Amino acid sequence: MKREEETLVNKGVRPTANRLLVLRTLMSIDRPMSLTELESELPYMDKSSIFRTLNLFKEHHVTHEIDDGATIRYEACHGEKRCNISDMHTHFHCEICQETTCLHDVKIPIVQLPEGYESQSINYMIKGICPKCAKKQIG
Ligand SMILES: [Zn+2]
Ligand SMILES: [Zn+2]
Ligand SMILES: [Zn+2]
Repeated sequence: MKREEETLVNKGVRPTANRLLVLRTLMSIDRPMSLTELESELPYMDKSSIFRTLNLFKEHHVTHEIDDGATIRYEACHGEKRCNISDMHTHFHCEICQETTCLHDVKIPIVQLPEGYESQSINYMIKGICPKCAKKQIG
């Protein structure tokens, strides 16, 4: 079984051709993708089925949704059946080139919620200037 097929089966999603295609695309790029980017990577798939697939993926914890303040982006979850904080990482959004990068080695700090609050997702986004843009500003 291929990696993307195994992931879907593990998370209780029937692996149809379209679903495998969307997940393979997300897994092939090491940064969160917007819907528009996914659409241009998958020109033969219609927009509504990409969107439906993403919603299904979210329900089954196949993907994480990342909000960089301008766009909702999607990336494959590398955790097991349920999402937990240890399979999430910090993201960096560059305010100059608008690129959102995965900082895989920067873990999300764990915060203590008051009693009665249960978290469903965490969006840990740092904004600033990426190394590429920083270099351009100097030079
Ligand atoms: Zn996850
Ligand atoms: Zn930049
Ligand atoms: Zn990421």
